[in-house]
Amino acid sequence: MCARKETEPAPDWSDYRGVFVYVEQRGGEAKKVSWQLLGEGKRLANKLDVDLIALVIGDEVEHLAREAIYYGADKVFLCEAPELKAYRTRPYSRIAMKVIGEAKPEICLFGATGTGRDLAGAIATHLPTGLTADTTELDVEPPPSRLLLASRPAFSEKMMATILCKQYRPQMATARAGVFQALPRDVSRQGEIVRVANGMSEEQMATQVLDFIQGQATLNLEEAEIIVAGGRGLGGPEPFAMLKELADALGGVVGASRAAVDAGWIKHAHQVGQTGCTVRPKLYFAIGISGAVQHTVGMSGSEVIVAINKDPEAPIFQTAHYRIVGDLFKIVPALTEQVKKKRA
Ligand code: FAD
Repeated sequence: MCARKETEPAPDWSDYRGVFVYVEQRGGEAKKVSWQLLGEGKRLANKLDVDLIALVIGDEVEHLAREAIYYGADKVFLCEAPELKAYRTRPYSRIAMKVIGEAKPEICLFGATGTGRDLAGAIATHLPTGLTADTTELDVEPPPSRLLLASRPAFSEKMMATILCKQYRPQMATARAGVFQALPRDVSRQGEIVRVANGMSEEQMATQVLDFIQGQATLNLEEAEIIVAGGRGLGGPEPFAMLKELADALGGVVGASRAAVDAGWIKHAHQVGQTGCTVRPKLYFAIGISGAVQHTVGMSGSEVIVAINKDPEAPIFQTAHYRIVGDLFKIVPALTEQVKKKRA
């Protein structure tokens, strides 16, 4: 591909209108990031005064097309076929490119998940256009420029970079889960569902899915509804077992601050914050975590935050809805015992 120089006048993109969101699903269940992106996509679409378009691909996934409308989409392209049950780059990217080619959205958004990154990368390469990966802030310049302002941390997370795609359409971005807020699910919303044919034979798909092996205990912090996170206040790796017991009793997962991760007490996959995951669970416990801004930026969108800290002046108490001042080694076991009793 020969990139156009920024000094060249931008081509006329006036036939590209609308915001597109890819609704990622597995086994008929949508990833939460899809609804979050529809929420953010709607905000951008309203600013540009255009429609919000969604794409759902899979087998027996019509219910997700309806859900996409409830979460803000005006029009949903739906491609269903048994051979589309599991994600494969070639058929999924071909279908998405066909829809993008027909609908001509000016902005295309994907979750920054393994699948979303793969799909968005394949589409951007083929179209060809620019793709900003792992964005954490999105906005648009008002008409006439209508440019997508896609921001993401850069230079070892020390700066925010805002990336523009002036010379190509659509403008594409993947976005981190948990950063944007889904709209309230509104079952009275009406929208259009447009069926799209797959049009690709099994032989043309290049790869075959022979089996799907569920990884053992794969941590999914971004999708978790309850997170019990621990920090340097735990003093070592062993107390994380105590946090796991509380998380198990509540049906949640364990998170951590960077201090705990950097100390080697727990793996990076558990880290919440600027250089970890951004989460929006229903319930977040911050245990022995001081509340540095780099941590709170990743969890302040949680519905209910409970902080346990022995320092009554700890900054985490400014973010928390419930504040427990005291020694975590006394409070956490007592809490776990009460939860277990209630659940028994
Ligand atoms: P501390 O700040 O040391 O806090 C420990 C807390 O435990 C204290 O408040 C203390 O009162 C309490 N405590 C101690 N003992 C007990 C006890 N027995 N009972 C109850 N409470 C107790 N941090 C992140 O978390 N996530 C990130 O993604 C992240 N990214 C960063 C990116 C950059 C570029 C930089 C510069 C920093 C980043 N940080 C991140 C680090 C962040 O600035 C803080 O250093 C870190 O969050 C502190 O972790 P902590 O709260 O566990 O430790």
